[in-house]
Amino acid sequence: MQAKAPLRKTKQREVILEELNKVKTHPTADEIYDMVRRSLPNISLGTVYRNLEVLSEAGLIRKLDLAGTQKRFDGDTREHYHVRCNRCGRVDDVPGEPIPAIERAIGRMSDYVIESHRLEFTGYCPECQKEMSQMDGNSKARPKGRPRGELESVD
Ligand SMILES: [Zn+2]
Ligand SMILES: [Zn+2]
Repeated sequence: MQAKAPLRKTKQREVILEELNKVKTHPTADEIYDMVRRSLPNISLGTVYRNLEVLSEAGLIRKLDLAGTQKRFDGDTREHYHVRCNRCGRVDDVPGEPIPAIERAIGRMSDYVIESHRLEFTGYCPECQKEMSQMDGNSKARPKGRPRGELESVD
């Protein structure tokens, strides 16, 4: 865990934080720029990028480094897992707590002292499942390689 640097409050940072905390969509910097511009019409994209870096370094937001997508940001700084749609790129939170036992197990199996871990699930979001089954015509549009029931029993 890195120490949190004291952070000067600016109007821009406040608005960025506020907007980010309103959504659960894990927006990209460009999307955050569009959201923030509604209340700060003169803000530049560069300023938004810079402030996102500063805020994530200070631990006030999280920068998500998910495979194969643009960098996204999360106002929820608690440890949690994400699931990403292979088709539309949507990213959602996975309900439930991260699994600390994974770190203990990997620590035993490797020579490393494990400090953290990142686990990303991928699949198809409800909307894409619907669209895919409509396209398929006969409602059995299970994408290849996705075992039935995976992630469906989470809640
Ligand atoms: Zn999707
Ligand atoms: Zn999240």
